Amino acid sequence: MSTATKSSLDALAVFGGAPAFERKLHVGQPNLGDRAYFLQRVERILDSRWFTNNGECVQELERELAAFLGVRNVIAVCNATIGLEIAIRALPMSGEVIVPAMTFIATAHALQWQQITPVFCDIDPATHVLDPVEVEKLITDRTTGILGVHVWGRECNIDALDDIARRHGLHLMFDAAHAFGCSHRGRMIGGFGRAEVFSFHATKFFNSFEGGAIATDDDALAKKIRLMTNFGFAGYDNVVHIGTNGKMSEVSAAMGLTSLRALPEFVETNRRNHHAYRERLACIPGMQLFAYDEAERCNWQYVVVEYTPAPGGPSRDQLVEALWAENVMARKYFWPGCHRMEPYRTLYPRAAARLPHTDAVAARLLILPTGTGVSGEDIQRLCDLLALMVGQGPALRERLAGRTSG
Ligand SMILES: *Cc1c(COP(=O)(O)O)cnc(C)c1O
Repeated sequence: MSTATKSSLDALAVFGGAPAFERKLHVGQPNLGDRAYFLQRVERILDSRWFTNNGECVQELERELAAFLGVRNVIAVCNATIGLEIAIRALPMSGEVIVPAMTFIATAHALQWQQITPVFCDIDPATHVLDPVEVEKLITDRTTGILGVHVWGRECNIDALDDIARRHGLHLMFDAAHAFGCSHRGRMIGGFGRAEVFSFHATKFFNSFEGGAIATDDDALAKKIRLMTNFGFAGYDNVVHIGTNGKMSEVSAAMGLTSLRALPEFVETNRRNHHAYRERLACIPGMQLFAYDEAERCNWQYVVVEYTPAPGGPSRDQLVEALWAENVMARKYFWPGCHRMEPYRTLYPRAAARLPHTDAVAARLLILPTGTGVSGEDIQRLCDLLALMVGQGPALRERLAGRTSG
């Protein structure tokens, strides 16, 4: 539900017009599968009085995920951040680990939380993932691993990273929080490196409220990760390893099973939305849509635009401000980059100097809403707004600047 198309700057909500959308359009609004299926699973959980600790739903989810991903082991966890911490510790990584700064802060935190130095590495500006040439330059005698991130679901340069890791005797693992349902050369993400970690957070296209999973083909590593996820318990009254509480609850697993059954629908909606954006954004100057590789399986979960203003045109931040006023909650992920947030900005002040592509890309990013809560009509209207804002560029820029300073 929304108001009529806007044709002048005066109609924009940022200047007092009615918002184009009555309800907020969020990036990462949760997708919901079959409600009846979910509720039936929850009834069963309640009846069984088995709420957590490797219950029926967790076991079923782990089995289904392993089959879907084609990996030997999947360990469900309470969230991806804990999953990363556990996997990092199980390998074990220590000292320094090379990681991108173009990622969600949890990737860096999972290292720093365990006194491991995240050594921020620049990205390839075309793909937004780690540049292997830069990775190799950062290896020191303290380096123990590389933690790649498949940003936006676009896979890392896996073969090159694998080669570097082998030659230098480093652990390679991946933060695959964005890449559930994506493939690399036809093989599902989840089976690469020593381990890969997925996030099933509510804002991801596939969710279990909170949750995640660690995937690995290494049985010994999987065994260790399982122990660490449950306080190191090997049986009643028998703790054999240091551990934490990383367990996924039954209700979360029930939601995971529900999402899994709706996965084709979620992906198809995202794909359709992405194509609708692509068609419309192509007509708006300065808007470059980040492309996915259609030869691979892909979840299409992010609509990532790199926006370069024309001379005198509105800045990225001005566009975001004007969009928010219309109830389009566009985001600037992952601006300003982990290296410009605390504690990293203070701890590693020299990192920024080697991250020119990260900084340049972060300054251009505009993430637009998609998912099952966004319709083709919404996208049409949203792109009309963007076309108006960019088309009236210098006037919009001046009015917003005047308004801010006045
Ligand atoms: C969401 C996300 C995480 C954290 O996932 P949680 O399940 O919320 O802990 C980690 N890394 C990346 C790249 C993410 O987008």
